[in-house]
Amino acid sequence: MAEILVCKHDSNVPRSKTAMVNLPGVGVYIANAVLCFAYGESAPIVDTNVSRIMMRVYGIDKNVSGQAERSFDVLDACDRILPPIHAREFNWALLDLGALVCRSIKPRCNVCPVSEHCSYANESGSAIDR
Ligand code: SF4
Repeated sequence: MAEILVCKHDSNVPRSKTAMVNLPGVGVYIANAVLCFAYGESAPIVDTNVSRIMMRVYGIDKNVSGQAERSFDVLDACDRILPPIHAREFNWALLDLGALVCRSIKPRCNVCPVSEHCSYANESGSAIDR
């Protein structure tokens, strides 16, 4: 990768997502993370935790959708809510929300700032961890 960056990109990491995913070992997640955290661009960072939040909030059913469809739905949901500015802070907040509040087991819906808008929290009182 270092050789390619030196030879084809004037020793810089490209700012284009297409160019970045063509680098060896770089996928969409890393490309978006670099675009967002290094260059401050509005790009979604979708890890397991963020994916779980999107699926719960938007009611993306993991049992109904296939994996490819689900990934598309999750990425689409992230794209729609990503703000044009302060994307870094937004992505950090989502990563923290997934790690600390919207936990895999026993999500803490009672302290969650998006519970009013969340399908999972609103579908049943038993989803709320009080
Ligand atoms: S309300 Fe509950 S399920 Fe919904 S995002 Fe918050 S913690 Fe997760």
